[in-house]
Amino acid sequence: MPNILVHLIVNLALIGLIARFDPLFKQDKKGIVLAVFASHLIDIDHLLADPIYDPARCSITTHPLHRWFMFPVYAGLALFRNRRVRYLGVALLLHVGLDALWCL
Ligand SMILES: [Zn+2]
Repeated sequence: MPNILVHLIVNLALIGLIARFDPLFKQDKKGIVLAVFASHLIDIDHLLADPIYDPARCSITTHPLHRWFMFPVYAGLALFRNRRVRYLGVALLLHVGLDALWCL
């Protein structure tokens, strides 16, 4: 299974799990799916790398939108009042968290 597909499925499952058990996350399946897919837009920073895709490369140390200094920005989005912005923040944190796991 391609890496990006595993990434999407795990990200969707984790944020769905949070949405199911966290009372702050009311059921909004459309919002959750949109947030997970939108969180993958940060992978556009791969276009700045050469080669564009290298399965052996660690995103956290090379791609600008995946660097550690972006984590507080994503955490800030996760604290937003708007539910869908919160979903996006959580999805982005899960995205970079999963990318960090791939680095190990
Ligand atoms: Zn990524």
